[in-house]
Amino acid sequence: MPIPVILQVAIPAPLYQLFDYLPPKHVDPASVQVGARVLVPFGRGRSCGVVMGITDRSDFDRSKLKRASEVLDTEPLLPVDSLAFLSWAAAYYQHPIGEVVSYALPVRLRKGEIPLSLCQPGWCLSADGESIDLDQLKRAPKQRSLLQFFRDQPGCRSKDEVYRECGEGRSALKALIDKGWLRPCEVAPRPMEECCYEAVVGPELNDDQQSAVDAVAAGTDQFGVFLLDGVTGSGKTEVYLTLIEQVLAAGRQVLVLVPEIGLTPQLLRRFTKRISTTIALLHSGLSDRERELAWHAARSGQAPLVLGTRSALFTPLQNLGLIVVDEEHDLSFKQQDGFRFSARDLAVVRAQRAECPVMLGSATPSLESLGNGIKGRYRRLPLKQRAGGAKPPKIDLLDIRSVRLDAGVSPTLMRLIEDELAKQNQVLLFLNRRGYAPVITCHDCGWISLCRRCDARMTLHRASNLLWCHHCGSQRRVDPVCPECGQDDLRPLGQGTERVEEMFSQRLPDTALARIDRDATRRKGSLEKLLADIDAGKYSLLLGTQMLAKGHHFPHVTLVAILDVDLGLFGADYRAAERMAQLIVQVAGRAGRAEKPGRVLIQTRHPDHPLLQTLIHEGYGAFAQQALQERREVGYPPYSYHALLRAEATKEEEPRRFLDQVVELVNTQLAADVELWGPVPAPMERRAGRYRAHLLLQAVERSQLHRLLSQLLPKLQKLPAARRVRWSLDVDPQEMY
Ligand code: ADP
Ligand code: ZN
Ligand code: ZN
Repeated sequence: MPIPVILQVAIPAPLYQLFDYLPPKHVDPASVQVGARVLVPFGRGRSCGVVMGITDRSDFDRSKLKRASEVLDTEPLLPVDSLAFLSWAAAYYQHPIGEVVSYALPVRLRKGEIPLSLCQPGWCLSADGESIDLDQLKRAPKQRSLLQFFRDQPGCRSKDEVYRECGEGRSALKALIDKGWLRPCEVAPRPMEECCYEAVVGPELNDDQQSAVDAVAAGTDQFGVFLLDGVTGSGKTEVYLTLIEQVLAAGRQVLVLVPEIGLTPQLLRRFTKRISTTIALLHSGLSDRERELAWHAARSGQAPLVLGTRSALFTPLQNLGLIVVDEEHDLSFKQQDGFRFSARDLAVVRAQRAECPVMLGSATPSLESLGNGIKGRYRRLPLKQRAGGAKPPKIDLLDIRSVRLDAGVSPTLMRLIEDELAKQNQVLLFLNRRGYAPVITCHDCGWISLCRRCDARMTLHRASNLLWCHHCGSQRRVDPVCPECGQDDLRPLGQGTERVEEMFSQRLPDTALARIDRDATRRKGSLEKLLADIDAGKYSLLLGTQMLAKGHHFPHVTLVAILDVDLGLFGADYRAAERMAQLIVQVAGRAGRAEKPGRVLIQTRHPDHPLLQTLIHEGYGAFAQQALQERREVGYPPYSYHALLRAEATKEEEPRRFLDQVVELVNTQLAADVELWGPVPAPMERRAGRYRAHLLLQAVERSQLHRLLSQLLPKLQKLPAARRVRWSLDVDPQEMY
């Protein structure tokens, strides 16, 4: 009797194991492929899982195994190397394997739907349609304009595009098809950016850039991590582009990861202009269909270049030859909920498995990466100067102690702004706080606008007349009178971007100001439009939050002012200083990126703060050295390894009780080589109506930490208090909130 084939299936559920199933009755067991999706009975319903392995053994009685109900793919959807990588990631982050595998799939495929075909049906002009005189259609304006649409941009147009052009009615389309002027065709998919023109040749690389390229190009068949450490505007992107061209020319695929909001049209244009290949774009701004099409194009190799945000890391690829992580210090590479992975760290692992180089680039490298450079694991490639003759900006502190500010702007700064505007230059103002004011208060009784669900204040948004908690999303209308005492003297305290904008519209009414924050750019496409208008010189004043600080290139900006640096100087998190320094340097880097020199002013009430002093006089490199030294002294990452266990519950005592049980468990039964800190209440103890606490696990070696975690996790779920809390584990946490 043949041994039945047992499918080991990863199912998206919060459980750490694979599940064994028999193949469906009607399916030849030998035809089932590892990496194919299967529909299986699970719990009370059915679930779509992925076959991770096929074996003849099970820990369960074979007669009790259920049968899968359907095999969805005849070919593996995820290749074996992807499955192995995902398993590794699941084990490293101690996250349920089924959820990790499911995360790696496009949304429709997670749900068990049929993969989209890369080609879309569409239409193009027939020979008649091309030659016909448009005047023949004088009486049918809709048909005429549709025909014109096809003529304006010759080639095939997809169904979606044509429908969009037609608007509501489709009778004109039908008429043109009936007349034989349009014929059906297959259209190459969007949103892949196809370059049909000759690529533009880039500038000649300077010596630093060339050495960086050479260092990587010397070993494209082997794993190596390269840290491209170059000030803003030093030509990092040129280095990426040159390397990418070389790797593509060798017939291999390239994966480029950028931060969440770093994937600007500017960057994309730069890539499409320079590299004549099909680019698969993968980011959160796309529809599920668009993303899936790009995913297929990447997976099949049809798009040799893949450009995306953190989740693009899991795209299956053919013959991967290079990974680039741009702005590697950026926090958005870390997923902060669910499967809490770091795309930067996993990019290194993926490159290692694929035996190819990975380049991490930043003007402000993370202390982790610099630490790895010092340890010799990463090779640091410095770009010391701005490329093409642009001068580094000059940074000065503006002491605002006992200075009267108008919406956060000192008179000195105001004067400098006006000077710069008079010279027809652009000015960029940075304030990392949206809304009108971070809190309102009653002048009579001292009431302040606290969130009812969080230990936090509610921000006033004046345009919408709402008090808004930025932590839980609660909103309420602003009362005209104090909810406490009934007096009508409510005052906003402090300022957000909305208030600064209002002040400038009053004081400099003739100056066009572009505000860039999440509120002002909520509509799809509005950020792109603002950026294009800034580029075209329609605005002289740019005001924004960190959305402005990242990646953009503003060649006409000559003055950058950071309105309130003190917000970040005294953060509770041990990484606060690192983040602040990165932000300052990144914002400062927006100035003087072209021929015009730039100046940067930082308003502060703590001009003697050592962080500011080191940063300004000696630069980010010196700051980072100092910060690393401090970390070493206290034994914090990168000189130790952390995992953070978070717990939350509506009852105040529950998270703590659970974490106390964890501590007890570790101390009595498990490893002694991991230090436990806590449990302590989270910095914001109550958020969205839940009390939160956490426990920090720290080890000198990564392996110690992982040994403990893999023993701890199965036991954690069985602790008596576990059922009364929501808990999550964050390996290599980036934030301690
Ligand atoms: P980064 O990515 O480090 O911020 P970019 O690659 O965007 O820097 O380069 C900044 C500017 O300098 C761009 O306008 C780019 O075209 C230009 N540039 C880069 N390298 C060179 C070079 N070798 N010669 C002349 N201009 C260059
Ligand atoms: Zn009051
Ligand atoms: Zn809240």
